[in-house]
Amino acid sequence: MRSRWSSDAVAGLDPVALRVYTSRLLGSEPSLVLFGGGNTSVKHLRPDPRGGMRRTLTIKGSGTDLSSIGRDGFAPLALDDLLLLRERKTLDDETMVELVTLALLDTRAPRPSIETLLHAFIPLGWVDHSHADAILTLTNQPDGAARVRDALGGAVGLVPYVKPGFELSKAAASVYDADPSISGLVLNKHGLVTFGETAEESYERHIELVSLAEKRIARAWFGPRMPTIQSQADVSSLALSLRGLLSRRRHTIVRSDASPRIRAFVDQPDLGRFSQQGPATPDHVLRTKRLPLVLPSADPADAPQAVARYEAAYDAYVTEHADADHDFRHDPGPRVVLVPGVGMFTAGRTAAEADAVAQIYRHTMNVIEGAESMGGYAALPVRDFFDIEYWPLELYKLKLAPPDRELAGRVALVTGAASGIGRAAARVLAAAGAHVLVSDIDATGAGQVAGLICESGDAAEPLELDVTDPSAVSSAMRQAAIAVGGIDIVVSNAGIADAASIAVLELDAWQRSLDVNATGHFLVTKSAVRAMREQRIGGSVILVCTKNALDPGRDFGAYSAAKAAQLQLGRVLAIENGEHGIRVNMVNPDAVFADSRLWSRDLRAGRAAAHGVDVDQLEDFYRRRNLLQSPIGVDDVAEAVLFLASDRSSKTTGAILPVDGGVRGAFPR
Ligand code: ZN
Repeated sequence: MRSRWSSDAVAGLDPVALRVYTSRLLGSEPSLVLFGGGNTSVKHLRPDPRGGMRRTLTIKGSGTDLSSIGRDGFAPLALDDLLLLRERKTLDDETMVELVTLALLDTRAPRPSIETLLHAFIPLGWVDHSHADAILTLTNQPDGAARVRDALGGAVGLVPYVKPGFELSKAAASVYDADPSISGLVLNKHGLVTFGETAEESYERHIELVSLAEKRIARAWFGPRMPTIQSQADVSSLALSLRGLLSRRRHTIVRSDASPRIRAFVDQPDLGRFSQQGPATPDHVLRTKRLPLVLPSADPADAPQAVARYEAAYDAYVTEHADADHDFRHDPGPRVVLVPGVGMFTAGRTAAEADAVAQIYRHTMNVIEGAESMGGYAALPVRDFFDIEYWPLELYKLKLAPPDRELAGRVALVTGAASGIGRAAARVLAAAGAHVLVSDIDATGAGQVAGLICESGDAAEPLELDVTDPSAVSSAMRQAAIAVGGIDIVVSNAGIADAASIAVLELDAWQRSLDVNATGHFLVTKSAVRAMREQRIGGSVILVCTKNALDPGRDFGAYSAAKAAQLQLGRVLAIENGEHGIRVNMVNPDAVFADSRLWSRDLRAGRAAAHGVDVDQLEDFYRRRNLLQSPIGVDDVAEAVLFLASDRSSKTTGAILPVDGGVRGAFPR
C-alpha cells in the first residue's frame, strides 16, 4: 500500500481540516475501511462555547463514511471529561454513551463513535483506526498473534479481542502505557490503530504497518475451477427464484456477480468450510450476517429448501444467544448467497445496500483466501458476532434510519419512459422508493431520465428497449433479473399514434400501430408475467391504454383498434394471472398534451381536422369536452399508475381507471 500524503494539500489547514484530509486518505482505500468502518480523531485546543479554550477530542461521528467525511462528520468533546472515565473499574455501554454525550461541545454534532474512549485514552494527538484486510489476514489465523509479531515485530502492541467500548479502550490504553515507543496497536480479529504527534506520522505509520503485513501474505490465486455450464437464462432464473424467496417478508434487491474473481472463491472445493466461519471483523456482520448461504447447485429447484434451512439455522442462532427479554430479530434470510459454478448473489433493501454487502464480502474473500494460503482462516467465536449483531449501540443506528418508503425494495420497469406519461410514471415510482428500469427505444432519452432520477437521490437504471423486438424484450427481462433480481411492477406504456381515416389508411401505418400499440404490450407483459411467476411473490402490471379504446373517434382507427386489443390483452392477463397474485390493470388517459412525444405536429393537425376545430384550439377543445373541464397532465396519469402499482390497490385487478376528466362515452363497462 502506498502513501497518498501530499504536503501541498495540507498547507495552512487547521487541525480539523487536516483531520478531514487524512481521514479521507484512509477512506479512499477500500482494503482499509468500507462503509462507515474505521474511525479517526485529533486532540486540539478549541474555544468552549461557555468561554475560554478547552482541550478537545474531535472524533468521527458514528457510522460516518471516512471516504466522504467533512467537518460536520466529526464531533468535538471535552477531553478532560472523557479522561476522568479512565479511573472507573467498569462502565456499561449505556452509561458510557450517556457520559460521552455529556462531554459534547456542540449540540448539533453527530453521535460520537463507539470507539471514542479508545481514542481519548491514547495520549498522542492523532489516532487512526481501520479494519485493514492485511492485518485481519494475519490475526484471523489460529496462530494470529505469532503471525502479527513475525510480520510487524515490536512496532505494535497486541490487544486481545474485546467488544468495542469501555473495556477495549482500557485494554488498548494499558498496552500503550506499557510501551509508549510502539507506533500502533493490533486489535485481535478487529483491526489496526496507529497514533502520532502529527497527522502525517499517524497516517504514515498506518500505511507502513499495513504494507509490512501485505508483504507477508502470499495469497494463492486459484482461478475458476469448475466449467461454466450456466447460460445467462439459467443465472437469471436462479436470481428470480432467490429474490422471490428472500422477498417473502419484505421486498429485496438482489445483485449478482459471476466475475472470475468471485468464481475463484466459490469454485474452491473447500468452500463449505472456508465460508462457514464468520466475517473478518465483527462490524461486517451487520452487513453480511455471520454466514453466507452456499447453494448446493445452480438449479433453482434446490433453492427453496436451502433458504429454508438457512433461515431455520439463523433463528436457532438468535434463540441460542439471545437473553430472555430479547424481542428484536433481524430478517432470518441470507445477505450473501454463494453458488459454485455460478458466482455470488447479495441482498439489500436497495441496490446500494446490496452493493455494499457485495463489496464487503469481496474483502472477506481476500482475507479468507490469504489466511487459508498461510496457516488457515480462524474467525471469532459465534458468540462475539452475535454480541455485535444484536448490540443495542448498533441497533440504535437502525432506529435512526428513515422509515421505508411505500415501494422500497421493489423493481419497476417502465416502457416508453424517455418522455411524457412514461417519464412521469418512472419518476413517481422512484420517488416512492422503487428501483426503476427506465426503458425506451431512445437510449439517450432513457439515460437522461434515469440520470435525473438518480440526481434526486432515487434509484434508476436506463435500458434501451424496442418493445416490438421479441428477443430484445426477453433479454431485457433477463438483464433485469441479473441486475436487480427480478421485477415487481411493469408499466407497459410505449406507444405511437397516427391520424388517418380507415378509407385512406396505408397498410404500413395500420401494421406499425398494431406492432407497437398491441404486439409491443403483448411481448412486454408476456415476459413480465413469466418472470413474476418464477419469483412467486406476485406483481402488478399496468397497461397505459387510452380513452379511445372504449370510446373511439373518427380518423384514428389504427391507434384505437390496436389500443382496444391492448385493453383486451390486459383483461385476459388479469384472468390468467390472478392465481399467481399478479394484478393487471389499465389506465385510460385522454388528451395528455404536456411533455408528450405522442402528440406530434401531424397528429395534432389530424385530430383537429377530425374534430373540426383549429389546431390552436385543440387542447382547449379536449379540455372543454370532459365533465370536469380540466386539462389532463402526465402527473395525473402517473398518480393513477402509482396507485395501481402499490399495495393500496391490492384487491383490484382487471380494472380500468379513467384519467380523462370524465368523458361520458368512455365510462368503463
Ligand atoms: Zn473498529
